[in-house]
Amino acid sequence: MPVITLPDGSRRTYDKPVTAAQVAADIGAGLAKAAVGAKVDGELRDLAAPLERDCSLAIVTPRKREGGADADALFLIRHSTAHVMAEAIQRLFPQARLVYGPPLETGFYYDISFDGGKPISTDDFAAIEAEMAKIVAENRPFTRHELPASKGMEKLRAEGSKFKLDNAQRACAAGSATLSWYATGEPGKNWEDLCRGPHVPATGKIGAFKVMSLASSYWKGDEKLDRLTRVYGTAFATKEELAAHLTQLDEAKKRDHRVLGKQLRLFHIDEMVGQGLILWTPNGSIVRQELQNFISEELRKQGYTQVFTPHIGKLDLYRTSGHFPYYRESQYPPVIEHEQLAALAKEGCSCGELANRLEKGEIDGYLLKPMNCPHHIRIFASSPHSYRDMPVRLSEFGTVYRWEQSGEIGGMTRVRGFTQDDAHLFCREDQVAQELLGCLSLVKLIFGTLGMSDYRVRVGLRDPDSAKYVGDPRNWDKAEEACRTAARTLGVPFSEEPGEAAFYGPKIDFVVKDVIGRSWQLGTVQVDYNLPERFDLSYTGADNQPHRPVMIHRAPFGSMERFIGCLIEHFAGAFPMWLAPEQVRVLPISEKSADYARQVHAALAARGLRATLDESGERIQGKIKQAADMKVPYCAVVGPRDAEGRKVSVRAFGIDANLGEMDCDAFVEGLAQEHRTRGQSTVRGAFAR
Ligand SMILES: [Zn+2]
Ligand SMILES: [Zn+2]
Repeated sequence: MPVITLPDGSRRTYDKPVTAAQVAADIGAGLAKAAVGAKVDGELRDLAAPLERDCSLAIVTPRKREGGADADALFLIRHSTAHVMAEAIQRLFPQARLVYGPPLETGFYYDISFDGGKPISTDDFAAIEAEMAKIVAENRPFTRHELPASKGMEKLRAEGSKFKLDNAQRACAAGSATLSWYATGEPGKNWEDLCRGPHVPATGKIGAFKVMSLASSYWKGDEKLDRLTRVYGTAFATKEELAAHLTQLDEAKKRDHRVLGKQLRLFHIDEMVGQGLILWTPNGSIVRQELQNFISEELRKQGYTQVFTPHIGKLDLYRTSGHFPYYRESQYPPVIEHEQLAALAKEGCSCGELANRLEKGEIDGYLLKPMNCPHHIRIFASSPHSYRDMPVRLSEFGTVYRWEQSGEIGGMTRVRGFTQDDAHLFCREDQVAQELLGCLSLVKLIFGTLGMSDYRVRVGLRDPDSAKYVGDPRNWDKAEEACRTAARTLGVPFSEEPGEAAFYGPKIDFVVKDVIGRSWQLGTVQVDYNLPERFDLSYTGADNQPHRPVMIHRAPFGSMERFIGCLIEHFAGAFPMWLAPEQVRVLPISEKSADYARQVHAALAARGLRATLDESGERIQGKIKQAADMKVPYCAVVGPRDAEGRKVSVRAFGIDANLGEMDCDAFVEGLAQEHRTRGQSTVRGAFAR
């Protein structure tokens, strides 16, 4: 007599085993129709799976109740589509042998062996999709059938696929007593595949699909084994969702900061310099410098002071901070002094021994800094502080080095050296809340200026069941409340995440959504009770006694590399005028206007604008196109008539037509103002109707 508990807490009692499909039908015809699977005691199952015992049950449908696509439904749909694609491929290419076909976050793939014969090509995609469409239209049920492991192995041996036999052997080795197959239709009659499941109830539940791409792979990822063709595909519950996904992929490709970085000559990664080490070329350096100037100006207004610190520090410093040897795996190895090294060589010290002695602290060396905090701490500790001087806010665009595995690096988002928009605030306990508010108001201002209004914050709190946290629990309560309050003032969505705090304090993380809807995790603001303790920091209180300050680490935009990588994609390379490497290009229509063009260019340059002059012999349409290719925000086209009236014909990036004529002085003044105010364009405004 299974008692089934539904998500709303209601219960249904049956006098014999029942399937999730039947329960769905009992709840309502609409639900039964929409259902694609079931979650039984939290585990994803077929709708047809028998429920024999008491359990909790949630019917999986493509739409979540609160809107948006359901991840479990997508998993079922994609895994089921992988079967349909495999069947279609085997119909068209009988020599194809299936290996392994899992669902992925955005689709699925199937590894297929063509036995050294000609593999499929992208030209075959249309035929494969047409065959898949037939199978979907036939709306055949996914039917599970099982055999005891030994019987199942016999069946596979008779079928002669070493790949499936290997999959089955692994399933058995992992403790599976039975082997299961899913037929699309009737077992023994229709196509089937060895599979654990679960699946959607029938092929007709697959809404929309597409065969995406090919890649080559090896069986078990081993180059010495069979060469395989990996066929990627994707599937969604509806055509609209598939179309939106394809548009997003297309947009993402156009905005890829690695491609735009090259096209707009913003940065370079050079094999001779090293992987993951960004070379900021002149154009990219302008963007970074403008952004740093902007952030620095705001920091000055908020009472921060600027510091500079070296790129290395002694190992003892990081032993005190705790960064060495604990985070050794993510650091470059230590640097050792010449004499020390010579002495060790004389002793015949082995590399293993050296590592050991470094770790134990028997010999010292230097570390490329993985963090800026210890240096800033030593600046704070270098002079006495009274409660009246607090808080002390030290900021630095500080470059740090971390060792990322080579497979993980690419573009500006995963690098081995990066510059944080870092600052450390040393404050009194009673100042923490106010300082957090200050940090967040700065973030709000900067995101606002950049037109990135779609962001959210995550507040990382203690895990109430853990004892790993340092510091007084009462202080933690206050700091957590301060984080919450500060996050609330932003007026953007925020979530509280228990267990996500660092062991040394709670934190606030920023996640920004770009214009095509992708999320970028940027930086954090963190409260820290630990480092002031480890470095024995103090200030003199009103009672004339030493007191321990609290530290706030804040790098809200993460690193300049990651942030600008994100900005490149957000703006698709078309930066706002104040950030643009080249702000305006002067284009003489012909040789006759060259003199006047030079005057216009000189007037722009005299106002500090980044202006260039195109004196090539190219026709004007070609010049306009070249400026657009480099996404230059403004062009001033000048011809003989413009020269007479001291005017320019204005073009703006993204608008195909000429905006119209403008007085040269007004144009220069308008651009200077747009640059200075980081935004409001009086030039575009002058032509807006
Ligand atoms: Zn399957
Ligand atoms: Zn720090």
